[in-house]
Amino acid sequence: MGVKKTENKAKMLNATQGLKNIMGRHFLAIEQAYRDAKPTAWATSGSPVEFLYMMDVQPMLPENSATVSAAQKYSQRFIELAEEEGFSYDLCSYFKTNVGAVLTNADMSKGGTRKPTFMLSTDVICDTHVNWFQVQAERFNVPHYTIDVPHVVSNTNQRQYDYFKNYVKEQLYELIDFIQEVTGHEYDEEKGREVALNSWNLSMVWQDIYELRKAVPCPISTRDTFGGLFPLFTMPGLKEPIKLYKRMYKEAKTRVDNGIGALDEENYRLMFEGIPFWYALKYFSTLEKYGAIIVYEPYTYAFSKFMNPNVTKEKLLNDPIDAMSELLLSFWYIYDLKTRIKKFAETVKEWKIDGVLLHENLSCRPNSCGLYDLKKHLLEDYDIPSLIINADMNDPRKFNEEQLTNQIESFIEILEKRKKR
Ligand code: SF4
Repeated sequence: MGVKKTENKAKMLNATQGLKNIMGRHFLAIEQAYRDAKPTAWATSGSPVEFLYMMDVQPMLPENSATVSAAQKYSQRFIELAEEEGFSYDLCSYFKTNVGAVLTNADMSKGGTRKPTFMLSTDVICDTHVNWFQVQAERFNVPHYTIDVPHVVSNTNQRQYDYFKNYVKEQLYELIDFIQEVTGHEYDEEKGREVALNSWNLSMVWQDIYELRKAVPCPISTRDTFGGLFPLFTMPGLKEPIKLYKRMYKEAKTRVDNGIGALDEENYRLMFEGIPFWYALKYFSTLEKYGAIIVYEPYTYAFSKFMNPNVTKEKLLNDPIDAMSELLLSFWYIYDLKTRIKKFAETVKEWKIDGVLLHENLSCRPNSCGLYDLKKHLLEDYDIPSLIINADMNDPRKFNEEQLTNQIESFIEILEKRKKR
């Protein structure tokens, strides 16, 4: 039996077109920093980029650049170059893309990242981030500061948590000293609060956008969120992206108020867990033909970092450093499996999700760890069907389109049968 296909195509928000300008400005700001001899820093995703903006350092995120390489179809070449240098086939493809881009001195338009004044990493998401920057900091001979973030598991008691928090907070104070020493820039409390407030506002609008995705039909597809994510991790602390997100929100709200969905015919609501395949983003439109729309991605939501109810706006403005240390301890990717399963079940209910796509990312351990347990518990404990997809976010060699399409079609058939139950 085949599944019904339509000419359905998700409508992108007009406001999302502004994303190109915002990202263009980010790259121009980097160029300008080099012209003005202003300090620059590489930062891993999940690291508190706000501190760079607070101390007038221009951030550059190699992961963001790696996605550019993939979208421009350069990543495979860069990855292969890294492998020729001895890096393993199984290693993170963002890391290898960056190695290849640096080796070839690639231009920013191809995903290249210039030599920074220093590097900032954290293991909040993965150890690869730290090792990656160690390797590249040595290559460039620049200083590297890393923040060690303990993982809070379900049995962590308050005493332990407070200990963790102070441990992270101390490192944030040391980070300020480190930046001051390397750049000569001082930490200014007023600027610190201004950047923190901008970051808060950016996150809040993103969360509001996500709230709108609860509507049936859903007003926003991944055409808006996969790209829309980037300002959250490259520009938290700046005003421009807040305006863009507000425009996205306004347009989506009008859709909701008028019962308009991103898809003309919405049959299935899905969640996509994991990093998208940046070299094959078009593949996601395949789902639209079945009337399936992704209404929630933990990955794009996770970077809206102000999700800890203990961290209020007042608390943030009162003591940004204390609040940032607490936020680092509440990042989605450090949740243990038990907490993740519960969170998934709640999300499925709230966003009225019919099925979950789990990307078992062949080069990313943190994103793939526990997926089979997650799948099992979602079905057994909450009657939520899911499909595990094997691919890679940046390495097209690990993407089998035909196999994936067969899997997706079978999954849609399952969802169809469940609807008829
Ligand atoms: S893709 Fe995965 S392994 Fe690579 S840097 Fe990101 S979290 Fe770490």
